[in-house]
Amino acid sequence: MKITKILDTTIICLLFSICSLILAYPLTASAAPNISLEKVSALNPQTTESTQSFSQRDLNQESILALDWVQTSAEYRASAYQSYSFARLILDRLLAISIDHPAIVLDLDETVFDNSPYYAAMVGTELKNTTQSWNQWVKAKKAKAVPGAIEFINYVNRATNVKLFFISNRYEKYPCQRNSQDLEIATIDNLKQLGVANVTDENVILRCEFANGDNLSKQLRIDAVIDGRADGEKHNVILAIGDNLLDFAEDVDLTLEARKEFVDNNASRFGQLNSNQDLRSLLPIFIILPNPIYGSWESALYQAKEFERNNSDELTTIQKNLQRLNALSIE
Ligand SMILES: [Mg+2]
Repeated sequence: MKITKILDTTIICLLFSICSLILAYPLTASAAPNISLEKVSALNPQTTESTQSFSQRDLNQESILALDWVQTSAEYRASAYQSYSFARLILDRLLAISIDHPAIVLDLDETVFDNSPYYAAMVGTELKNTTQSWNQWVKAKKAKAVPGAIEFINYVNRATNVKLFFISNRYEKYPCQRNSQDLEIATIDNLKQLGVANVTDENVILRCEFANGDNLSKQLRIDAVIDGRADGEKHNVILAIGDNLLDFAEDVDLTLEARKEFVDNNASRFGQLNSNQDLRSLLPIFIILPNPIYGSWESALYQAKEFERNNSDELTTIQKNLQRLNALSIE
């Protein structure tokens, strides 16, 4: 009698284990082998259930704090001011040594333009950032200014002989083959509205310009500034200002480790300077602006190969969320 009862209990336990494995299978199969669901569950006990119905809207919710930080915090303003103040300090030191035909390359989005309202409008919706919706935002010319940017630009134009080039991955026109410059015109208008002087289609260099076939790399546009194709004069780029590592080197490998290594290897160019260091050996100096909303730092979280996908655009919202969670450290 007792043995039968033990056997019954064992069979029930076995059946329960098999059922649990079957129920868990769809989630573990869709997740990458390297993703530790144990860790994900430890961070958020509801995650393993909620990820099964994780939509674009849920993904958008995760941007709320980053957007709040940019739009409301005094700390964001202070960080942006600090970046531009450091840029000006370095610029003044560079002007004291003689450099021929100096130029500064500035990114636009989240470096000069604050586009946070575009991203904030997606919160609470199933909408995601697309080329179409982004281009509509560009044409609306509603971007605001990053704190300190306009003052820095106008200082360079007013008080120095340094030439400014705005090099952005905004499209000049879309698609590139189209016979139009509507997006470039809107971008120039937006800059003028914010109080930027001396802005023309010569010093605003957008995606499509100086392209090499399908290669639309930013580096090609920076090369055009250096070798004289941009405005007919060769330049020495002394400062590069942006919110993304790709504004400084487009060939940085998109892995978390390679990105950190790039920064560590270039620490002097990111401001780890000695007071008597020869700045000429460090040109261009890099000035970084904070952007917690998006960037290549986010793309680096998504290792598409772990889900047998070619790139992060092919990942589902569930997979993206799992990789975001999995990147966190709990130790
Ligand atoms: Mg940018």
